[in-house]
Order: sequence, then C-alpha cells, then structure tokens
Amino acid sequence: MIATEIKKLSPDASLAADRAVLADAADLLLAGELVAFPTETVYGLGALASNSGAIARLYQTKGRPAFNPLIAHISDAEAAFRLGKPTQLAETLAAAFWPGPLTLVLEKKPDCPVSQLATAGLDSIALRVPANPLARQLLAQLGAPIVAPSANPSGQLSPSTADHVAAGLGGEVRLILDGGPCEKGLESTIIDARSDRPVILRPGPVTAEMLTALGQPSSPGQPSSPGQPISPGQLASHYAPQKPLRLNAITAQQGEWLIGFGRLAPACDVTLSESGDLTEAAARLFDLLHAADAADCQRIAIAPIPEDGLGAAINDRLRRAASPKA
Ligand code: AMP
Ligand code: MG
Repeated sequence: MIATEIKKLSPDASLAADRAVLADAADLLLAGELVAFPTETVYGLGALASNSGAIARLYQTKGRPAFNPLIAHISDAEAAFRLGKPTQLAETLAAAFWPGPLTLVLEKKPDCPVSQLATAGLDSIALRVPANPLARQLLAQLGAPIVAPSANPSGQLSPSTADHVAAGLGGEVRLILDGGPCEKGLESTIIDARSDRPVILRPGPVTAEMLTALGQPSSPGQPSSPGQPISPGQLASHYAPQKPLRLNAITAQQGEWLIGFGRLAPACDVTLSESGDLTEAAARLFDLLHAADAADCQRIAIAPIPEDGLGAAINDRLRRAASPKA
C-alpha cells in the first residue's frame, strides 16, 4: 500500500496552484511513478512511455494482461507522427478529430522511444491527442509521451470521476489529479489507419456516421482470435460491474436496479437521460453502473439503447459488461 494523494484542480488548470500540482505530477512521472489524470473520455493511469519499469508496474497495478497494449498520449499530431508512420488517412482523421476522443493505430517507427512493453511487442502503436485541458497541460509540462490505459482494475468499470479511480486503485497510485467528471464518459474510438479505409477496432465518441460525413466510410474490425487479439478491447467480457447485468429491460424484475433511458423503462431507479439524449447517456453510463454496484440490489437491468450514432459505442460497452466473466 502507498499513500494516494487526490489533488483537485480547476477545470482549465488556470491557477498558479494548479500549475504547481501539474509540475509535481510531471516530476512523479519522470521518476517512474504512476499518476492518474482526467481526459475527456475516462480517467487514465499514466506512466512515462519510455520507462519500462514504470510500465511493468502499471500492468501489475491494473492486473492487465501483458498482451493488451497501451495507448500513447501526445500533445499534437506532429508529436504523434514522430512515433507512428502517418498515412494520408491518418493525417485526414488527425486534422478532423485531434485533439479529441480518437485513437489511431499506425505502424510504429523504428526509432519510436515508447517501451516495447507498452506496445506489447507489436509493430504498430496506438496514438491519441487528448483534448482535456488538464491532460494537455500535463503533457506540455512533461514534454514526453504518456502511456495511459483507463485508471481501473482490468476488466472492471472504467472510471469517469476521480472518486471512481480512488475506489479502484486507492493505495496503488501516488497521485490522482481530480478534474471533475469526464465530458464524454466513454473510451476513445480506436481506428486502424494503416490503410486507406478506417477500420473501427473500438466504437467510441467519434462515430461511424461522423467518419462517413467526413467522406471516410469505415469498416468494423474483425473479432480477434484467442491469444492474439488485434485490439484486446475486443475481449468479450470487459468494462464489467460486479453484479449481473440484464440488457434491453423495460421493467425491473425482483432484486433488480433499473437504469432507464428516455421514455423506455419509465419506472426506473435512475435514468441515463430523461430526454433520450445519447451524449448525456454516454457521459453518465459508467457513473450509473458504479452507482448500481453500490446500490442495495442483487442485479442490474438497463433499458434498450438505440444503436445509431453514439448508441453503437454505448451498446458495445453494455454487451461486454453483461457478458459472463471468463
Ligand atoms: P484502454 O487503455 O483500456 O482504453 O485500452 C486500450 C485499447 O487500445 C486496448 O483495447 C488495446 O488493445 C488497444 N490498442 C493499443 N495498442 C494497439 C495496437 N497497436 N493495435 C491495436 N489496438 C491497440
Ligand atoms: Mg480500459
């Protein structure tokens, strides 16, 4: 056990006190420590991308299988394309969606300084330029890439608040930067951008419809073969609450805590969005699943969510959350 400090910052880290905290966070990362920080998707558990010792500890802390590679976070597209080989598609997507909730998988450059452990020995690398002001200032302060998976024990619900991080990893990380609830609340869209057509490895806030509107229609990723996942985010059971979860529920059965959506399931305990707004639902999803785990009930049920737009990413997480654990 180590003492975990939670430091609250203003959302845009504009105060001198915020900058001092971020400087401390960068120093901890340089010293090989783990720091949890907010992004617009979910909270990340960061390690200096070139430090294999820190990354080994990161995998151990999360209980994450070593074949599941990490996303490298950088401050801009130029920094990204120093690590991964840009394609025309990658440049188009970067110009449209960075900074933002999009991760691009590219061929790793031979001189890429990111630890082999973080890329799980693959010849590709996953890259993201986050938009959250705290994440951006931390990257600027550090001046080096940060690898960061979600800041939760592997397989469990992703954290969308600093309290979620503390509940899952308190006593395991030195510092949690608290920037309030995450704006999007769902993990980034992961796109393989090594060819001329985007392949969606994980649906997320950048939707298939948004890619089509950009003139870049996408293909869905193929399910990965056992032991050799292309994107282990494709594992069947992931993002899972402690309690069993029933999907497409209209009414609660005995012992169930019902999460509603829009006008469906009107007699619910809580709702993802009363007005049926998918953006609001995505931002609240993990928080309500955490709340359901903590509620006085044996099981969780959730209303049907339409599959269009952001609904595809929400349903992707819900299917994994409901899938029996291995
Ligand atoms: P998380 O860090 O929990 O959001 O998960 C990151 C996701 O990015 C995992 O599903 C990884 O498998 C995926 N990922 C990271 N690097 C690569 C890569 N080189 N190729 C494909 N997927 C990757
Ligand atoms: Mg994760």
